[in-house]
Amino acid sequence: MLPLPADVLERLGAGAESADRSADWPQASWDALRPTGVLAWAVPSEYGGAERGPVACLRAGEALGSACLTTAFTLSQREAAVRLLLKGPAPLQRRYLPGLATGSHFMTVGLSQLTTSRQHQGPALTARPAGGVFVLDGDIPWVTGADRAVAIVIGATLPDASQLLVVLPTDRAGVTVGPPLPLAALVGSRTSLVQCRGVVVEPELILAGPTESVLGKGGGGGPETSALALGLAAAAANYLRQEAAKRPVLMRCVDRLESLLTAARSRLHALAGGPPSDAVLTVRVECTKLVLRTTQTALLIAKGAGFVAPHAVQRWARQAMFFLVWSCPRPVAEGILEDLLPGA
Ligand SMILES: Cc1cc2nc3c(=O)[nH]c(=O)nc-3n(C[C@H](O)[C@H](O)[C@H](O)COP(=O)(O)OP(=O)(O)OC[C@H]3O[C@@H](n4cnc5c(N)ncnc54)[C@H](O)[C@@H]3O)c2cc1C
Repeated sequence: MLPLPADVLERLGAGAESADRSADWPQASWDALRPTGVLAWAVPSEYGGAERGPVACLRAGEALGSACLTTAFTLSQREAAVRLLLKGPAPLQRRYLPGLATGSHFMTVGLSQLTTSRQHQGPALTARPAGGVFVLDGDIPWVTGADRAVAIVIGATLPDASQLLVVLPTDRAGVTVGPPLPLAALVGSRTSLVQCRGVVVEPELILAGPTESVLGKGGGGGPETSALALGLAAAAANYLRQEAAKRPVLMRCVDRLESLLTAARSRLHALAGGPPSDAVLTVRVECTKLVLRTTQTALLIAKGAGFVAPHAVQRWARQAMFFLVWSCPRPVAEGILEDLLPGA
């Protein structure tokens, strides 16, 4: 059974090509999602949420990833903000969670400068204590939907190398949201660099820290990213199944890919809601390999016709590369490299 209404998923699917190619925010897809209630699934009932469990949320992520990866991705960044708000103080939860549950406002995250971006350089974003407040300076290199967000959950580094998580309202003096980056895919995600120049943050906006490794062991590659990869792989496998109805010789390869998908899904769901772990990263490697394999198999079968835009198969193949760069911490990158360069 589908976790979301079929007609809603169809509407997202109809907008997927333009969401991938055009820098316009996929508003029609967000409007289609609102009445389904899915925006409230990860929010506790005391804030108007529906409090659905982690497996239900992974299923929704997968279904959305199949229909429109761009919309699914923007929602996943919002969900990351929700998860971090839930670990923060009650006043921040009261301020932001009810509007997130109804979809009246959008929030996102800018955390990669603490985990997977610019780790070979000094801190991209610093926080300086100054008379009871913190002052932020530097870049937040990657923020999806930044110009749609009322606030961004961001991470900054103090002079003593401890880290701070902050809810940064985007209308703060000194915050500049850059133009959407010209991405290879998922252009409608309107991912931008955000600059902070002398931005003052009061203690009321602090979600966590200052402390060492404020995000804990979870430095990217969580189950939610894997669910989106599975969704994209499932879309390509579904295309192959339709082709196999006309070309029975393909049936063996469809069966093989679908059994890999089923196995990866059950391993992923078994980890849902648990703490960050090596097993979570292993599943992320498995799902990334699978999405690359399945989308490239689909392109191989769609041949040159699939290489001409617009064609869903080449969109999926381009989008699959996103999982090589998004939320891809070192252990995941190493696992994928082992596959790309066997025996190296
Ligand atoms: C479309 C998109 C949307 C995203 N959205 C978000 C978001 O909403 N929130 C969020 O927190 N993150 C987001 N990310 C960030 C993502 O999760 C990764 O952190 C990011 O892709 C890492 O890429 P980077 O270029 O910043 O990495 P970097 O490691 O900074 O690499 C930059 C360059 O430096 C080079 N380099 C790397 N290491 C070294 C080294 N040791 N010595 C010399 N050169 C080196 C690399 O080859 C590369 O060319 C997004 C990324 C993408 C692509």
